[in-house]
Order: sequence, then structure tokens, then C-alpha cells
Amino acid sequence: ETNGLDPAGATPMMAQYIEIKAANPDCLLFYRMGDFYELFFADAEIASRALGIVLTKRGKHAGSEIPMCGVPVERSDDYLNRLIALGHRVAVCEQTEDPAEAKRRGPKSVVRREVVRLVTPGTITEDRLLDPSSANLLLAIGRQKISDGGYVYGLAAIDISTGRFSLSEVPAGELSGAIARHDPREIVLSEVIHADPGLARLWQDNTRAAVVPLAQAELEPAAAERRIREQYGVSTLDGFGRFTRAEIAAAGTGLLYIARTQLAARAPLAVPSREETGATLAIDAATRANLELTRTLAGERTGSLLATIDRTVTANGARLLAEHLAGPLTDLTRIARRQDAVARLAEDGPLREGCREALASAPDLPRALSRIGLGRAGPRDLAAIRDSLAAAQRIADTLVAAPELPAALAEIGRALAGVDPDLAATLTAALADDLPLTRRDGGFVRPGFLAEIDEARLLGQDSRKVVAALQARYAEETGCRTLRIKHNNLLGYFIEVPQSIGEACLKGLQKEFVHRQTMVDAMRFTSVELGELERKISGASDRALALESEVFDDLAAAIVAASASLGAVADALASLDVATSHAALAVECDWRRPIVDESLAFAIVGGRHPVVEAALRRTGEPFIANDCDLSGEGRGRIRLITGPNMGGKSTFLRQNALIVVLAQMGAFVPAASARIGRVDRLFSRVGAADDLARGQSTFMVEMVETAAILNQATRRSLVILDEIGRGTATFDGLSIAWACLEHLHESNACRALFATHFHELTALGDRLARIDNATLKVAEHRGGVVFLHEVVPGIAERSYGLQVARLAGLPAPVVARAGAILKSLEKSQGGRSARARIDDLPLFATLDPPPPPEPASEPPEDPLGPLLDAVDPDALTPREALDTLYRLKRER
Ligand code: ADP
Repeated sequence: ETNGLDPAGATPMMAQYIEIKAANPDCLLFYRMGDFYELFFADAEIASRALGIVLTKRGKHAGSEIPMCGVPVERSDDYLNRLIALGHRVAVCEQTEDPAEAKRRGPKSVVRREVVRLVTPGTITEDRLLDPSSANLLLAIGRQKISDGGYVYGLAAIDISTGRFSLSEVPAGELSGAIARHDPREIVLSEVIHADPGLARLWQDNTRAAVVPLAQAELEPAAAERRIREQYGVSTLDGFGRFTRAEIAAAGTGLLYIARTQLAARAPLAVPSREETGATLAIDAATRANLELTRTLAGERTGSLLATIDRTVTANGARLLAEHLAGPLTDLTRIARRQDAVARLAEDGPLREGCREALASAPDLPRALSRIGLGRAGPRDLAAIRDSLAAAQRIADTLVAAPELPAALAEIGRALAGVDPDLAATLTAALADDLPLTRRDGGFVRPGFLAEIDEARLLGQDSRKVVAALQARYAEETGCRTLRIKHNNLLGYFIEVPQSIGEACLKGLQKEFVHRQTMVDAMRFTSVELGELERKISGASDRALALESEVFDDLAAAIVAASASLGAVADALASLDVATSHAALAVECDWRRPIVDESLAFAIVGGRHPVVEAALRRTGEPFIANDCDLSGEGRGRIRLITGPNMGGKSTFLRQNALIVVLAQMGAFVPAASARIGRVDRLFSRVGAADDLARGQSTFMVEMVETAAILNQATRRSLVILDEIGRGTATFDGLSIAWACLEHLHESNACRALFATHFHELTALGDRLARIDNATLKVAEHRGGVVFLHEVVPGIAERSYGLQVARLAGLPAPVVARAGAILKSLEKSQGGRSARARIDDLPLFATLDPPPPPEPASEPPEDPLGPLLDAVDPDALTPREALDTLYRLKRER
């Protein structure tokens, strides 16, 4: 496989390039040439487009010019970052020998180069490439055939930037939702799963993640288990708990890929934790997107629920908050445990503020730990451990002093106090106040920590004094006052004088010193004495550096040895930050603790939409709180909501869904009170007309999603349907909406909110016991409307479409014309109001196409005529036929 490139006939360098590229076919190859990373062929075209850099040409290959573009090594991080963000993977290929060495081998020799690292979206560890407040997940997928011939899927979610590693298993139908929940940056799986036509949409739809198929031959089940054992140096997996075969396959795939991208280094991963199926509230991809949980439909974090509720003060906490929000719990005990911690921190101001203040000084412990484990750390990572431990100690002290802590907080306190105090003391003693970026820079060990380092440094400093003395002496001896002793990497220490010095001086200099360089305005000399000095000084600083490096390694080893308890500290700090964030938010916005229990209740009093409320608060407008009671008698209740556009229907629907998410993630909720019978699945659908995020076949998408709800919603589920059926012709849409409502009521028997434009549907309230109607209150004022945003029982009087159109700035003549058309339409319905017509028409009658708007026909003479015209006896079910008979009798 040479990517279609033939090395034969290429220049030696191009042949080398082609060979390395062939070994890394699915990466962009950054090929080091001097101060640039160059890209060639297709890579160059991709990168120049993605980065907006100039595409040039370099030589010819097989008769055609070779496209090329390059990025300067100095600024390559920036470019790397942008390519990764776009989902590309990059192989960084460095020169691994001195060019002089290659020359010595022969005039045509090419400098040896090797790929030293694969940089991929899901396996980065560098702070500058990572978003501090979100996890950077690699999701590996494996699967296992089950008895019915289908598959179950194993998921390994790995964040090598923090060491987090969790395993779970989901049925095929929930794979999409599980992927959406993890929101990975990169997905790795076998080529067989990737090629499964039933899953093709998953990879196409998920544009955020890079998808990497691996050859099936590498992913044998036995190899997967072996890889896990090797990663943790154990001979059996029994100590880790029980994993399913699909989970092991996923873990093996993930570990293989990580090993491949990290090359030499072994990523320090936590022991995989297993998540029980059903432990989290199931939220599918469309619902997640629609509710804008972690990002808005436009892809922004700002404006999402996450951004609105985030009061965390550490990056570690922000990531855990996002994780909790993406996977709210279903276990009542775990929910109550989190709530207890929040409640205590909400009540106890001093405790809360004490914790927050200490937390704010804690750096990003897990990411520092991971870099230390990978051998990619700098002195600042060591300091991050030191400072985290200091913060942990302060918080532990605060918690210990607080009486009667709830279990979750007490456990946090124990974890924070669980690190060997010697480690903190050693780090404090060893690390200097100001730290360089890399260990190669030196100077990070605190003076006084190690006598030998101090001595070597002193020698270095002394030598600097010697240099100064020497400079004075030389100036004196040569009579050249402008003489300076300088240093660079090429010459070491040298003497520099300006070109303009006098002839006499120059003579003196040439006698004493060896001339080395003539510059435009200066001349440089060296001397034997200076050479000796050079050796002494650089010897001393080399020695100091080597000693510092040893200290670094010792500290890193001590940290790695303590990584289990440090990991626990990191987790505890994050949990505390999240609980404190919820508490601060509850106090700030007057949120209350919801009751989450085993019932099927859904009783929200004074509920608000957190994001809309926050947006309104900035404008000074009040948010109108609304109740919502969907508690059925053992089965759910369905509330059908009609009302004008802009009335607040969508806001009301979504706020109730968001309250469930908040309640089950353990947070307080924006309501005066809330009682929620644990929800197992949350569904939310928006009608195609509102769904701007998708371009193609919106109606099809809407129907696929609606089908998923009707097939999957249980009595424990909460379903939010907004304008279902809008994406097609009115009567099709109405019929579909009608049938969906009936199904939800009869079969799913779930709690549901259903907003609709089809006022016809409200008639269902009379027929189906657990449906009731609600509407958004509107006040009419001088021909205009005022939206009161208040949800009240009943049915919308009118749709106020024209008023909204006027508010929206539709040209006045258009609004006037629409008014006239509307009048004639209404007249054509026999002079009865639309509402009256709807009330007593059965569904089949509405399948009749709507009358043409103009010319307006006179009311029909015979009231049975149009009804009979509408009946297609062949298309009626027996029940509908019976209805028709009743209808005809009544109309007579
Ligand atoms: P609909 O779905 O009925 O068209 P929306 O829910 O989109 O209406 O609401 C339209 C706008 O009205 C929102 O953007 C918001 O500014 C405002 N709004 C909605 N509900 C409320 C409320 N309860 N209190 C105050 N303003 C609200």
C-alpha cells in the first residue's frame, strides 16, 4: 500500500517520504525539513484548504508536479490544533539524525526520519491542544453476537488526558444515544463494524468525531484480553470485576489504538470501571441536541444548559459536571446522595465559600497526573500536584471541622486526606517558586533542596564573575574599551569588538587571540583561556541540569507510585466542585431540591426554563413560572398544548424536560417544588419545520425519530413532542400526530407533553381519559396580541398567526391580504368558526383536501353533502365507519 504513489524513479528524499507515508496512510504526514513541516501530494491539498495556507509545488513525481505546503515548526502547534479540531490525524515525522551525519554517508544520502508521534483528536495530552472544561474522549466500540442473531455493543470510553476509562454495554438500538452521550472526539472500531450498513448513518451523522476503522485481523478476542492484562500488568482480569465479551472487545480495541498512537509511551489509565446498563437516564442523540444540554443547536457551549448551570471553579469539576449532565442517574440512592451534599452546601454558606475558595486554587490534577505518567510532563505539572495537594489539605481540614456531614461529603473529606503527607512536603521543598516550561530549561529545583545542585550552580555563577573579570582584563591589556565577552551556541564564549576600532588595537588583538568571524560591524575572537572557561561553566551547568533531572525523575516516580490515592483526590475535588457549583447556583437563583422517587408522579410547581430565564434576567424581563402536573393514576398523563407561535410552548415543553435532567443528575431545579417519579428515558422531538440543524429530508428524519419514541417509550419515560407532523401536508401531518397521540396514550402510557398547531387534536381530550388540554394565555390589545406566557387549562381560541406575522415585520400589505384570505377561508367553512368545525369532525373527514382559498364559495346548502363527499368507504376501518354513521345522524 503506497497510497497510489510509486517510489520507483523518485528522488531519494521523495522515496523516503513515500515509504513513510505508506506506513501512515490515514494520517496527514508532517515531514520535517529544516524549520518546516512539509506536506506533499493529497495531504498538501487537504492541509492548504483546511489551514488556508499557500499550496506550492516541489519537483515532479511520475511526470506531474508535486503539490506541497508547509508550516513553520515554531508555530506548528497552532496548525496542529486546527487540523485536529477538524478531525484530522497527523503523523509527526522528525529528522532523527544530524544532517551532517547523512552527508558523511554519501552525497546522495537522505537524513534519517521517523514518525515520532501520531497526533489524533482522541489521544492528545497537551494542555494547549485540550479544552480544559471538556473531556477528550476516545470511544472504542466492540460487539458480540447474541442469540437472536443481532449484536450487543461494548463501549470503552477512554480519556488519556485524565486516565479515565469506563466500560459499558448497550443494545444495538441504543448505540447512537450512547455515542451521543459520550460525545467522543474520536471513535475507533473494527472495519467490520464500520462497514455494517445498518450503522452507516451513525458515522455519517457524527461529524464531531473522527472515525478510525482498524483491520479485523488485529482485533481477535484473545488479543483483546491479553492487551488489557498487559496494560495493567496482571495475569487475570478477575480482580477488576466482570466484563462482558463486547466490553472486553471494546477495551482491547481502544488499548491497541492508544498503543499505536503513543508509540513508545504507555498511557497511565485508571482500572476500567464498569457501568451497569440502565444506570443512566437514556437520552438519544436527537433529544440531546434538541434540549441543547451541552451545546446549542449551533454547536456553541454558550447558551447550553451546561453553560447556564456551570458554577464550577476548576477544569476538573467542569468536566465532571458535563459528564453528570450527559448521563443523569436512574438510581434513587445515588441521586439522593448527591442531593444531600448539595443541600448541605446550599444551607451552609461558610462551608460552601470555604470549599470554593480552596478549590479555586487547585490546578488540573488529572491532566498533570496523566502527563507525568506518560513521561511528557514539565516542572509545572509537578507543581500542579503540589498545589492540588495543598488545596486538598485545606478542604479536608474544613470538612473535618464541619459537624454531621452527609455521606458524600464525608467520603470526599476522607479521600482528600488520604495521600501520604510526605509527598506534599517533598514537592513543596523541592520545587522552586518560578518554574520553567520544560525540564530541559532547568532551574526548577528550589535552592537548598540538594547541596550538590547548589554547588554546581554556584560554580556556574562564579564563572560568570570570572567572565566579567576577564573582560575587564582583556580590555585593559588590549587598550580596547569596547571589547566584550559574549556567548553563543556556535562559538561558545568569544571576544567581540566593533569594526571601527583603531589599527593599533587590532594588532594587539590579533597577537593575543584567534580570529574567528568577521561580521558587518564587528569582529570575533576566541582564546585558550576562554575555551577552558567554557568547559568549566558548561560542565557545571550540565551537572546542575543532570542533577535537576534526577530530582525530577524521583519526584515523578513518587507521584506515579501514589497515583491511586492522587486519582482519588482528583475525583473527590471534582465531585466537591460539582456539588458546590449546584449549591451556589441554587442559592443564587433560588432553585429547590426536587423529590425523585419510585412513583410515576410528575408535579412541577412554578417551573422555569433555566436558559431562557437567565437570558431574560439580562434584559430585566420577568420569566413567567408555570406548573406542570402529569401525574396519572399509575399511568402517565398527556398534556396537549395549543397556542400561538411565540406564546411559549416550546419553552414550557423543554423546561420540564430540563428539570428532569437536572433532578436526576443530582442538582436542584428551577421550580418552587418538584416531585418526579424516576424517569428511565427522555425523548424530545421538534417538528421538522423548526429543525434548522438538518438539511436533508427533514420530514423523514422527524418520522424516524418519532418511530423511535413510539417503539421505545415505557411507562417510566417522559416524552416531549413539539409540532410533530409539521413537515408534511397539513392533513397528513394531522393524521400522523393524531395516531401518535393515541399510541402514546394507549400503548406507551407515558408522561408526555405535546405541543401542536393542529387545534383539531384537542378533540381527543374528550375521548382519551388521560389527555387534557392546556394553552398559553394571550391578551388582545388594539388588534395586536400580548403573550402572557402563562400556561392555563383549555384550548387556544385562535392562532394569532397574522398578529405574529405583523410583529415579525411582514410588510403591511401582505398582512392585510392574508387577513382577507383568512376571512374567505373561514367563510368557506360554512361560516362556522374553525374551532366549531374541528370539534365535531372525526379524523377521517379532515383527510379531505382543503378548499381553494379563492374564490370564496358560499356556505353549502346541504350539511351532509360535504361530509359524504369526504367519505371513502373502502378506506374506513369498522370503527371509523361506525363513527361516520353517528356523525351523519347528528348532522341531520
Ligand atoms: P412557541 O414555542 O410557542 O412559539 P417559544 O417557547 O419559542 O414559543 O417562546 C417564544 C419566546 O417567548 C421565548 O424566546 C421567550 O423569550 C419568551 N417566553 C417563553 N416562555 C416564557 C415565559 N414563561 N416567561 C417569559 N418569557 C417567555
